[in-house]
Amino acid sequence: MALLEDVGTVQHRLLSDASLLSTEPCSIAEAAGRILREDISAPLDVPPHDNSAMDGYAVRRADLLDGRPLPVSQRVPAGAAPEALMPGTAVRIFTGAVIPPGADCVLAQEDCWLEDEQLCTDLRPVAAQHIRPRGQDIRRGQSLLSAGKRLSSVDVGLLASVGIDECRVSRPIRVAQLSTGDELRSPGEPLAAGQIYNSNRPMLSSLLRSMGCEVRDMGLVADSAEATASALTSAARDADLVLSTGGVSVGEEDHVKAQVEKLGALKVWRLAIKPGKPLAYGDIHGVPFFGLPGNPVSSFVTFCLLVRPYLLAMQGYASPLPQTRIAEADFDWPKAGSRQEYLRVTVSERDGSPRLSLFPQQSSGALTSVAYSNALAIIPIGTTLSRGDRVDYIPFAELGVE
Ligand code: AMP
Ligand code: MG
Repeated sequence: MALLEDVGTVQHRLLSDASLLSTEPCSIAEAAGRILREDISAPLDVPPHDNSAMDGYAVRRADLLDGRPLPVSQRVPAGAAPEALMPGTAVRIFTGAVIPPGADCVLAQEDCWLEDEQLCTDLRPVAAQHIRPRGQDIRRGQSLLSAGKRLSSVDVGLLASVGIDECRVSRPIRVAQLSTGDELRSPGEPLAAGQIYNSNRPMLSSLLRSMGCEVRDMGLVADSAEATASALTSAARDADLVLSTGGVSVGEEDHVKAQVEKLGALKVWRLAIKPGKPLAYGDIHGVPFFGLPGNPVSSFVTFCLLVRPYLLAMQGYASPLPQTRIAEADFDWPKAGSRQEYLRVTVSERDGSPRLSLFPQQSSGALTSVAYSNALAIIPIGTTLSRGDRVDYIPFAELGVE
C-alpha cells in the first residue's frame, strides 16, 4: 500500500505550489468579498476639518466668563464654509458643520436658551467640548488596509471615507467543475433504481462562488477512461483550476487518477486523513487539478482543508490556512486511528468556555453530520480522547461556511 501523506505537510506544499493570479481594478461598490492586492494609505484626514458633534452653538470660552448673553452672528449648517467667529458672539451650528475659526467649543442646544435672540447658558464648557477634531478618525498617510485582506463591507466604507472609489484586487478564479459517477442524477430529475442525487456539485459550486470564483459546470462524467479523459481535457481548456469529485479511488470504476497521470502529472494522492483519504492533486496540461473523493463529507472536508487554502493563496490572501482553536470535548473517542480525523461537532458555550459535542453519525456519506454541526474537531493520528480533554477544532465560520 502506498504511504499516506501527512495533511499538514501537504497543505504547506500546496500553498507554495499555488501561483498568484493577476490583478484588476475594481470599483469599491463591487469590492466586498474580493481580495485586496495593494497596500492602501489615507490620502487625507478624516474628518477633514474640525466639526461639531452636536446641534448647538459654537462660542469662544472666554466670551462666557462674565455671563453676558451673546448675540448670534452666523448660522452654519453641515456642508457650509463658515466665516471666522466674531468675538463676543455665538454661531448657530449643526452636527457635522465646520467649526468657525476662533470658536473653541460647542454648547449643545439642550444646555442653553435664547433671550431676545441672544444666547444664554449656565454652563462653563471645557476646551474643545463637542468638537470632533480634524483627523480624529484617520490621519493622512496612515496605513488603512494591507494587500492580502479580503475586503469586508466595512472596509469598503473605510475606503469611501477617504475618497477612494477603486482598488486593485485579484481577478476572479475560473474553476471548471465536474462530477464523476454513473449513479448520479441532478436534483429535480426522477431517480431510477441504484441512482442517487448529486449533492457535491451544488455544495461545492456554492462554496466556490462564495469565494469569488467563476464556476464553469462541466457536467456529469461517466465512469469510463474515455469519458474521464475527454472531460478533464475540455475542463482544463480556459480554466485556472479543475475540480472533480468521485472516481479517485482504486476500484475498476475509478478513472481519475490514471487519466491525470496520462494528461498531466499527479503530485499528491492519498492523504492520512479521515474522511477523505483518496485525494488527487496535480495538473492537467499545466492547469492545477484537484480530484476530491465522492462521498459528500469527504469532498466537503478536503475542499475546506486543501482546495480552499489553495484558491486563497492564488488570490494572494495573507493567511490561507484555517486557524484552529481549542475547546473541551464533551465526548469520548476511545479508538486511536491511523489517519488524522476531522469529526463533525457542535461548539457551544458552557460556564463561559467552549465545548464540543459530537454528531452521532460520523459516516463520510452522511451530509447531515456537516449540515447539523458547526465545526470540525481534529483528532491526530494515534490519539484517543476522554470527555473533558482539550481538543483542536476549526469553526465553520473559519472555512467560509455560513
Ligand atoms: P467514489 O469516490 O466515486 O468512489 O464515490 C464514493 C461514494 O460517494 C459513493 O457512494 C458515491 O455514490 C458517492 N458520490 C460520488 N459522487 C457523489 C456526488 N457528486 N454526490 C453525492 N454522492 C456522491
Ligand atoms: Mg464513483
